[in-house]
Amino acid sequence: MKHCNSEKLFEEAQKYIPGGVNSPVRAFRSVGLNPIFIEKGKGCKIKDVDGNEYIDYICSWGPLMLGHSNEELLEGIEEVVSKGTSFGVPTEIEVKMAKFIVEAYPSVDMVRMVNSGTEATMSALRVARGYTNRNKIVKFEGCYHGHSDALLVKSGSGTITFGVPTSPGVPADTVKDTLVCRYNDMESVKEVFQKYGDDIAAVIVEPVGGNMGVVPGKKEFLQGLRDITKEYGAVLIFDEVITGFRIAFGGAQEVYGIEPDMTCFGKIIGAGLPVGAYGGKKEIMEMVSPVGPVYQAGTLSGNPLAMHMGYKNLNILKNNKHIYDELEQKAIKLEKGINENIKKLGIKATVVRFKAMLCLFLAEGPFDNFQEVMKCDTEKYAVYFKEMLDRGILLPPAQFEAMFLSAAHGDEELEYTIKCNYEALKVAFQK
Ligand code: PMP
Repeated sequence: MKHCNSEKLFEEAQKYIPGGVNSPVRAFRSVGLNPIFIEKGKGCKIKDVDGNEYIDYICSWGPLMLGHSNEELLEGIEEVVSKGTSFGVPTEIEVKMAKFIVEAYPSVDMVRMVNSGTEATMSALRVARGYTNRNKIVKFEGCYHGHSDALLVKSGSGTITFGVPTSPGVPADTVKDTLVCRYNDMESVKEVFQKYGDDIAAVIVEPVGGNMGVVPGKKEFLQGLRDITKEYGAVLIFDEVITGFRIAFGGAQEVYGIEPDMTCFGKIIGAGLPVGAYGGKKEIMEMVSPVGPVYQAGTLSGNPLAMHMGYKNLNILKNNKHIYDELEQKAIKLEKGINENIKKLGIKATVVRFKAMLCLFLAEGPFDNFQEVMKCDTEKYAVYFKEMLDRGILLPPAQFEAMFLSAAHGDEELEYTIKCNYEALKVAFQK
């Protein structure tokens, strides 16, 4: 497979953009390659600037539940654009979007739109701190909540891949109130609450860890978080930036039957345009300016074009809930096929799947927390990734990320993926 045009673009890009990319996980560095540059996508496939085609398991890291360039989604978009792309004063579609989210999530009485998942979690924390009048927050090792200062501590996703889970540039004073516990370990949470409980404003968690591979939260753990936050008067925030409207229409809170006080959304609610949102109980959300004193704002927040796309995407999902079952069936098919390959090859690898979230860890499980995930063989993953890429399959270019499926992935593509997975694993484990 030739990548001449991508290579040329990358060379140019590095002159003007740090590392040539606008987000580190795009760099392909941890798999020892240079990134491919994409020209276009359709359904579950994307084409790079050299004309190579790939089955896409990144899917923009989650937003594209319906695949690339979905016709129903894009229909009429020119008309929306022709009316203007931003006004800085309210539009009707913002009201529709907010009402839709509130109706879909019983724990959310009110919602504020922002422009990214990072903004959603950062703002939710500020509101939780304002509401409780407390300072400390609890997060979990290996959970990624975007790149705001207070949350960039023992983080996940690219921060693990690039070895900077706690970033330079974040002042020690800013993170002194960020307490980090072990994922799926209630004892570690009880300890910090016993010590600092009166000053803990919020616990923020990915209910299904999707930024250290895939590490599902155990039901008792999430229930434990619900109970202890209630007991101490802290705000429980579910970061559903990945899971919201993906693992089920009602997100992880529907699947687990646990209601948080606040929820953060991103990705799917923008259908590929820059969108995030945070919402929760009325009395908490009424802390937000201009009703309350907690300031949070955005020139492009609730942007009409983004709202139009997101609202349409969510409506398609609502009217086609079979998509959720189908996505899970596709993930099960991959899980089964890859597990058979692992068995045939007699290698140490483990598929973890939760609903349609999936990850192939190149080590033996269990994988319940960050430490266990770190056992994985990232060098073998790099070989595996390259072998898959050469066969026309684009996986996340890092071991510690989830694979993303869309409604557009068909049986044929899944079967081809399983076949290639066998060949690629064989090479990776021979080296
Ligand atoms: N929270 C979670 C759970 C995420 O997975 C991400 C992004 N991968 C974020 C927050 C940050 O979202 P964004 O990249 O849109 O800022």
